[in-house]
Amino acid sequence: MTFDSLGLPNALVKALSKEGYTKPYPIQSQAIPAILDEKDVLGIAKTGSGKTASYVLPILANLQNKPEPKNRHIQALVLVPTRELAVQVFETFKLFSSALRSPIKSLAVFGGASINPQMIQMQGVRILIATPGRLIELKESNAMNLGEVDVFVLDEADKMLNLGFKEEMDKILSFLPKQRQNLLFSATLNKEIDGINRLILKQPVEIKIEEEKDAIDLIDQSAYLVLDEQKGPILRYLIKSQELKQVLIFTSTVYKADQVAEKLTKNGIEAQATHSKKSQRARTVALADFKSGKLRVLVATDLLSRGIDIEFLPVVINYELPRSPKDFIHRIGRTGRAESPGKAITFVTKDELHHFKVIQKKMGKWIKLTYTDDLDLHGF
Ligand code: AMP
Repeated sequence: MTFDSLGLPNALVKALSKEGYTKPYPIQSQAIPAILDEKDVLGIAKTGSGKTASYVLPILANLQNKPEPKNRHIQALVLVPTRELAVQVFETFKLFSSALRSPIKSLAVFGGASINPQMIQMQGVRILIATPGRLIELKESNAMNLGEVDVFVLDEADKMLNLGFKEEMDKILSFLPKQRQNLLFSATLNKEIDGINRLILKQPVEIKIEEEKDAIDLIDQSAYLVLDEQKGPILRYLIKSQELKQVLIFTSTVYKADQVAEKLTKNGIEAQATHSKKSQRARTVALADFKSGKLRVLVATDLLSRGIDIEFLPVVINYELPRSPKDFIHRIGRTGRAESPGKAITFVTKDELHHFKVIQKKMGKWIKLTYTDDLDLHGF
């Protein structure tokens, strides 16, 4: 699947490739064609699934074919629960809009910042990203017109409800025209979200993105009982004998990450460490090289694992166990894909056996432990 085949305009496809988005994430391959087709969408997906681009791209594509509205008449309204998300969504609109022949102006508005500059900046805005309270304030000051909104997005709807925004949401709905496209995104589908679904969506295309826990079943997992001093040779043995490519290794400390990467390099296996002590530039370069296949092994700490934007990894090696089972699941989650299951290999020392049991119990999955006495590590 490519972005090209989803029906997006060329300018956006080019911008995606420039940004390093090589292929659509599952939510994107399902949501983009539906949104381009002006259908309503219910997307059950968490942050990190690529949900933002899944609506930003088709909204831009559709808007660029529509005539420019009167000044301060909003065509796309995105309601978000927090200032952080507002800024993040705005940045994504700005980034991809700048690739269009006629960029479409967007603006993020949220509370906790003074209202006057936001009113002035409303000039020429066609896409508005807003938190509920500030949106109502601006509307009541006649800062913009919401009577011609073509597409309404409710992002992180579950969080919106948790934060107690239900009343504001209802009020905002009363500002909007009856005839419009609606997109609802939520991390979970519970009774309340289903209530909103029934209230605002019309025959929506429903998209549910697999949870990490479901993905666990699709991973080929193995574990080795090792002595601490054997970890290095066993790691090299596995990488070489199984011809592993694109291996992400996790350690629990920065020091260890550096040490593992250095040892691998010395032994002829291209490796780099990435962690909080490295400069942003060094991290970006290491990740880009790793993604493109130039770098065979990336060694990371947990702190950074959430920032590693890779949808699918063929191999993850837990050189050291993480303290929390959640981190363990997060580390290996990206290797579980129906179309090409990846591998997760875990090193366990005798002292860690109990902790490893706790992790397996939380994960709901038992992994066969391989003893390493019989491995011939000579030369590794
Ligand atoms: P989101 O779930 O929208 O918060 O997106 C999570 C992260 O994934 C963001 O940092 C995006 O830049 C990145 N991202 C989204 N889609 C893709 C893609 N198709 N390829 C690579 N990175 C992506």
